[in-house]
Amino acid sequence: MEIGYFPQIYPDELIYSVLARFYVHSGYPAYTFCAEDIFLNKRVRPDMEFLNVMKPERLESLCKKMSMAELIEKHTMFPYYARFLPHVRRNRAFEALCSMGGDYNNLLAIPKQKNGEHRYLRYCPLCVKEDRTFYGESYWHRSHQLTGVGICPVHGCKLSNSSVMLSGKASPNLVTAEQEIKEMDIIFGNEIEKQLAGYVRVVFQSAMDMKNPIAVGQFLHSEMSGTEYLSVRGEQRNIQKFYDDFMVFYKELPEQGLTELWQIQKVFNNYRLNCFEVCQIAMFLNVPIAKLCSMELPDRTQEQLFDDKVKELHKQGLRYPEIAKRLNASYNVVKSVGGGRYGKYSYEKETHQKCGAKPKNWKQIDRESLPLVKGAVRKLWGSGGERPHKVTEFAVSKLLGYPDKRLELMPLCKAEILKHQESQEQYWAREIVWAVQKIQKEGKTPNWKQVRTLTNMRKDNVLACLPYLKEIAEPELYEMVLGIL
Ligand SMILES: [Zn+2]
Repeated sequence: MEIGYFPQIYPDELIYSVLARFYVHSGYPAYTFCAEDIFLNKRVRPDMEFLNVMKPERLESLCKKMSMAELIEKHTMFPYYARFLPHVRRNRAFEALCSMGGDYNNLLAIPKQKNGEHRYLRYCPLCVKEDRTFYGESYWHRSHQLTGVGICPVHGCKLSNSSVMLSGKASPNLVTAEQEIKEMDIIFGNEIEKQLAGYVRVVFQSAMDMKNPIAVGQFLHSEMSGTEYLSVRGEQRNIQKFYDDFMVFYKELPEQGLTELWQIQKVFNNYRLNCFEVCQIAMFLNVPIAKLCSMELPDRTQEQLFDDKVKELHKQGLRYPEIAKRLNASYNVVKSVGGGRYGKYSYEKETHQKCGAKPKNWKQIDRESLPLVKGAVRKLWGSGGERPHKVTEFAVSKLLGYPDKRLELMPLCKAEILKHQESQEQYWAREIVWAVQKIQKEGKTPNWKQVRTLTNMRKDNVLACLPYLKEIAEPELYEMVLGIL
């Protein structure tokens, strides 16, 4: 079939959408005739978020006014799934897409659907109205398909699911938005939802910086400089405080994005690269969008600035206790920084041992140690009447006889420990449950003196942990603790 006509692609339109409009407007008697004209393999399932291998002449009509690179950046979901990938992986995914070959699906950070839920192409009822006025028809927008975002980033109203499933077993077809739109009630999202959706959309539509080598976790960490979420020297994250404030900030957000402390930790450690989650953290930290889209690290980190300051003050003749006081830091940290010993342990010592011993394969050691670490975590956590302990890197290392900082070389094991990280109050709550149950098992009625003797806690400690106790304890146990206080 000789085709002179090919529709013009609209702003933010998915390639799938323009092909569907082409199919409907061209009057093919059936889908397979159209597929034969467009795709190299007519049996292929049309890719809704990216693109399929197309016949050269069809690709040419599509790329009339832009390069292949631009087509991918402006008309596929590539920027959403690739923006925060490590530099090399980001470029490999881009090349795979540009050449329409290669396994881009496995290179991109496409979040898995929870509980086997299906995703459908979505539309905004108000965008539909505007598109019909401006273009005479509606179309599938990319920015309505951002996983995690439930509302239209422009109008703030809830997006509607169409019946077109993104990853289904349905027979291949091309369906336009016009064929799918129904009359819908317009329901608006709340303020924080709108603010975040707007933030995500602008990040998504910003130009991609393909050459930027900065890892997003380091960038977000550096953006906490000077906040109470970093220690004075800047190397330790106060992740519990961060998490508490973060959850309050996003409390009105419907069940989306980050909800667990260990998930947040993973974003900072570059194990989670999901655009929505990164935006959630960045918006919470007030990072301007332009800055997030062209990430840079400061010339000197907070740690380096701190160390400079310690050395400078020491040179001026101040003693370490005075410096510590002036910088509001601990004496030990200041002293070891001043003596050039801070963090001197190390990777080198562990990996390149003396006498030319073979460097260790830490990835493998990490994997092999995981069951051991899991066992240690279980033991520390306590069960079956055993006294609970706080699960920390220090406690696990001690239990397994690991040298200091060994866990720094084992990210899998470290993540397992972080999953069980808890605040002092959360730990106290577990300790009280243990103590009360122990006393009851001995056939006694718990009173304050017995609980105090077992736990060594003060009454104000117990009061501080009541909210957590209420969450984890049986109502009778909770009431009993209130009664004996
Ligand atoms: Zn809209």
